[in-house]
Amino acid sequence: MSIDSSRRKKLSEGKTKKIYATDNPHKIIIHYKDSLTALDGLKNIFLQNKGILNNEITTFIFKFLNSYGIKTHFIRKINEREQLCHKVEIIPLEFVVRNIVSGSMSRRLGIREGTPIKNTIFEIFYKNDVLKDPWINHHHAVFLNIISYEELNKINRIVSRTNDILRKYFLDKNIILVDFKIEFGKDQTKKILLSDEISPDTCRLWDKKTMTKLDKDKFRSGCNEEVILNTYMEIFKRLNENSS
Ligand code: UDP
Repeated sequence: MSIDSSRRKKLSEGKTKKIYATDNPHKIIIHYKDSLTALDGLKNIFLQNKGILNNEITTFIFKFLNSYGIKTHFIRKINEREQLCHKVEIIPLEFVVRNIVSGSMSRRLGIREGTPIKNTIFEIFYKNDVLKDPWINHHHAVFLNIISYEELNKINRIVSRTNDILRKYFLDKNIILVDFKIEFGKDQTKKILLSDEISPDTCRLWDKKTMTKLDKDKFRSGCNEEVILNTYMEIFKRLNENSS
């Protein structure tokens, strides 16, 4: 299969990634851009080399999850900014897992950030720009004809297992997995695959010793570009370090 960049057809471009077709209709190339966005794209900066880091980090995490039998869209890393992936139709739902209270849960329920969650919380958001990605439950998702209860049960098991695997792995690197968002898609055989990315853009990661934030919250809170990039670099370094 050719992945000659001069002959590529761009299929779509989002805030942080571009998608290209390949000669195989069931495979795509995902290109990680150097952009960082927050607040539904209202806050947007160019951050040199961030695309390289997120490609590395997502590659690392997807390979790790694959090794535990979690089926993802990831096939292989092609170069520093790009991955070859199975083409999927993205299910327009964001699955959020929370181990510690932060972000929208803290705001919505008025609970102090950092409050531990004993039972682990799973949330669903409907990916819809016009409606601003509202928080919904399983019954809404089925009512909206997005997904069946059976598929939701399957996804919930994958979400829960992903949390167990990543939480333990990050802890081994002295990082607390506070919360994260994942997305799923269906390939041409309708098989459900974990898709999109898992990176400091989509997770809250806190240093276990200092409780420093090592994720996109650095950007949300107004840190400068160097600080943000160093933060992403720190996650990349820790993932590649041998366990302590
Ligand atoms: N998240 C994401 N994309 C989104 C919304 C949230 O990756 O469009 C991630 C976010 O980085 C955090 C988790 O999902 O790790 C929970 O986010 P939350 O609902 O607290 O919303 P936020 O505070 O980001 O507004």
